[in-house]
Amino acid sequence: METFQFHAPKQLAEVYALLDEHEYDAQLIAGGTSLVTFLKQQLVQPDHLIHLGKIVALHGVKLVDNELHVGALTTYRDLETHPLVLEHLPQIAEVFGQVATLRIREVATIGGGLSQGDPAQDGPGLWLLLNARVVLSSSSGEREIAIADFFEDYYTTVIEPNEVLTELRIPVPDSSAGFSYSKFLPRSEDDYAAVSVAALVSVDASGSITAARLTLGSVSATPILISDVDQLIGQPASEQLINAVAESVRDQVDPLSDVRGSAAYKTDMAVVFTGRTLTTAANNAGS
Ligand SMILES: Cc1cc2nc3c(=O)[nH]c(=O)nc-3n(C[C@H](O)[C@H](O)[C@H](O)COP(=O)(O)OP(=O)(O)OC[C@H]3O[C@@H](n4cnc5c(N)ncnc54)[C@H](O)[C@@H]3O)c2cc1C
Repeated sequence: METFQFHAPKQLAEVYALLDEHEYDAQLIAGGTSLVTFLKQQLVQPDHLIHLGKIVALHGVKLVDNELHVGALTTYRDLETHPLVLEHLPQIAEVFGQVATLRIREVATIGGGLSQGDPAQDGPGLWLLLNARVVLSSSSGEREIAIADFFEDYYTTVIEPNEVLTELRIPVPDSSAGFSYSKFLPRSEDDYAAVSVAALVSVDASGSITAARLTLGSVSATPILISDVDQLIGQPASEQLINAVAESVRDQVDPLSDVRGSAAYKTDMAVVFTGRTLTTAANNAGS
């Protein structure tokens, strides 16, 4: 590992000043679950490492106008256990309770995960499903970005070198909507997903679908929203319709071949897991 100067500011203004001064020579660190590995492997070699852990303003979960506002330093374990998350967005607790191992969930932060821009993580597809927005802050002020515009490519987001991801804002969905999340883990329970699928489905009293949203992770450079799910709206959920939507993802995914399987195998699994996830979400609707 190369040497660097370590900074542990207590105020965001100090972080902004350090980023303005050192730009590409500076690197933020939150939980360090990824960055420490990158430092050891010399994939990043900053002259200045800026630790965010002492900044109180980046901690905490709040309910504001029917949205959860989640500070960047909120850990995966906080998301799994926080009373406001459990009451208003239990979907988040369900997903983050399945991430990696408890040791990683205790340390990894929502801001670090998002900033990394890794489509194999569990968060990106979920945040896209929930229409979340990211707040990026710098000495010039604050900007809010829809999650659909946040991820640009593998490990690439719209965050500028002088910016800090400070908060994630997540609208609370209709509480009667059925939710399901599933991931294909061909190697081990605590591995990154080869395919992940998230779905929200609402039905009316007659059983007709009134709203549906579907996202996939791990199968493209960024998480993807599947608009073909709209064809379910106005009809009762049927195996035939769900299979048609599942089949439609085949041409929209673009997975990489790797230790978790070939691109062709992952594509087949994306179809299978989409069908299963949509079926479960439809069954959960209204319950
Ligand atoms: C073995 C292992 C398995 C894992 N499996 C999964 C999994 O299956 N699913 C999953 O979702 N996650 C998984 N994770 C966690 C995930 O891959 C990242 O390690 C984690 O989300 C990073 O969070 P962190 O707080 O540790 O970030 P750090 O490692 O501290 O930082 C990561 C990057 O984000 C930048 N950064 C950090 N905070 C900010 C901020 N507020 N603003 C701007 N930039 C920032 C850093 O400069 C760095 O580039 C796993 C991790 C490990 C080590």
